[in-house]
Amino acid sequence: MDFLSVRYTYDVLREPIDRAVAETLDSGWYLRGDRTVTFERDFAAYCGTRFAVGSSNGLDALYAILAAYRIGPGDEVIVPAHTFIATWLAVSRTGATPVPVDADPATMNMDLGKAAASITGRTRAIIPVHLYGTVTDVVALRRAVAGRDIRIVEDAAQAHGAAIDGVRAGALGDAAAFSFYPGKNLGAFGDAGAVTTDDGELATRVRDLSNYGSPEKYVHDYVGVNARMDEIQAAVLSVKLAVLDEWTRRRQEIARTYDAELKDCAGLTLPELEDDPARQVWHLYVVRTAERDRLAARLEELGVPTIIHYPVPIHRQGAYRALFPDSSFPVAEAISETCLSLPIGPHLTNEEVGRVIDGVRAALR
Ligand SMILES: *Cc1c(COP(=O)(O)O)cnc(C)c1O
Repeated sequence: MDFLSVRYTYDVLREPIDRAVAETLDSGWYLRGDRTVTFERDFAAYCGTRFAVGSSNGLDALYAILAAYRIGPGDEVIVPAHTFIATWLAVSRTGATPVPVDADPATMNMDLGKAAASITGRTRAIIPVHLYGTVTDVVALRRAVAGRDIRIVEDAAQAHGAAIDGVRAGALGDAAAFSFYPGKNLGAFGDAGAVTTDDGELATRVRDLSNYGSPEKYVHDYVGVNARMDEIQAAVLSVKLAVLDEWTRRRQEIARTYDAELKDCAGLTLPELEDDPARQVWHLYVVRTAERDRLAARLEELGVPTIIHYPVPIHRQGAYRALFPDSSFPVAEAISETCLSLPIGPHLTNEEVGRVIDGVRAALR
């Protein structure tokens, strides 16, 4: 059994993917061409935004948004303490200061009350991360920052297609960054990412900034970077986008099965199921237990692969320790110590889902 299988997505879509890649190679055009334009149009339509701009990866997409908002040294950007480190890295790269906020123990997403309490005169943006595929309540966050000049920039790298009342991740904030890293719910065969927004000025600036700060060839209005999506990844992503919702439904089905079959396991905290299943696209299914290391070891013996997302809190990493020597984010720290991701994804058969369940039950007995 695989924890995740990028290979599976190729196996089931081999023909259309081979055709899309071959056509791209035949076209003789590998960057900033029709395939990127098509994917951008389709992904914007999927998210329900006016614009999508292809990017080289999720981190570059997030950075481009912040840079396009002219966020930089002296500014503060509120981020979840518990996330993948790229959320913080994007802020640091602009020269602004990441201001971490502890997690809500129920959702494992950013605690919105604490986020509101962390706003200062220097706060320019808040980055809610829809961690593990559960959407942060950006509607509530919007209310909390109403009337202030603070941008809400979604980190939607783990939440393609998740929605609140029919509004999808990517369309909930002022702008959003997506990753199409191969293992994400919508994954390329290499690195890729995108920015979505309804703000045409921002979209243009993100596009130019990601192309050497160049609105037209050999005109450079500001110091940009090279952070573009390539045509092969765009062609592959267009093929996969057509099946994303089907794969998401399978993830949701597996999550419901885990929930039903594991909820009476003593000492095991399951991820909360939201009342509205559309809010969760289950990039990861993360359980928590004080017996985490023992559970992981037992499951490995039983042939059930698991991963820890994420084992070391970001404020304790070498990259950030010096900046936050005295900080404590007790909920984020507790999650790091107790969390374990079970296999989830469209590659799993019902038989494998059953083996995961039996394995967890046996291991905790
Ligand atoms: C994957 C991920 C990123 C970074 O995306 P890359 O494409 O790997 O650069 C950012 N934030 C979160 C929450 C992620 O999971």
